[in-house]
Amino acid sequence: MYDDEEDLPLALAKKYPHLLMVSPVTGKPTEYTVCSQYPLGWFKIIEQLVQKVDALNLPSSIFFTQIKEKFGTLRSYTSYHTEELGQLITEAEQKSAVTCEVCGEPGRTRNLVWIATLCDTHIGPELELLEESEE
Ligand SMILES: [Zn+2]
Repeated sequence: MYDDEEDLPLALAKKYPHLLMVSPVTGKPTEYTVCSQYPLGWFKIIEQLVQKVDALNLPSSIFFTQIKEKFGTLRSYTSYHTEELGQLITEAEQKSAVTCEVCGEPGRTRNLVWIATLCDTHIGPELELLEESEE
């Protein structure tokens, strides 16, 4: 787990405002970011993704429009698509599929009532039962 969890996504956004604090609608800088609504267990994956994208030195018209969890994995959307960018985003999505979205420990995608990627600790006994009874 991380200290000051609440502030991590915002701190990251403020470190890379040109990638994370741009309005997906107007393309202009904004104080509000939709790129901080993701599970904190994946923070390290997202931090690495943003660092790698920053290192590509892309034109300022290319930025993240959304970073979120969907169907148990990390989905990242950008204003434009390039092959290099797509590869980094796919890498991050693949990492998220084997990382607990609560704590960042190794996990796997579980088909529960909803789909989430969790480690054995964070799945909890009741949910585990539910998962087994489906098989
Ligand atoms: Zn966990």
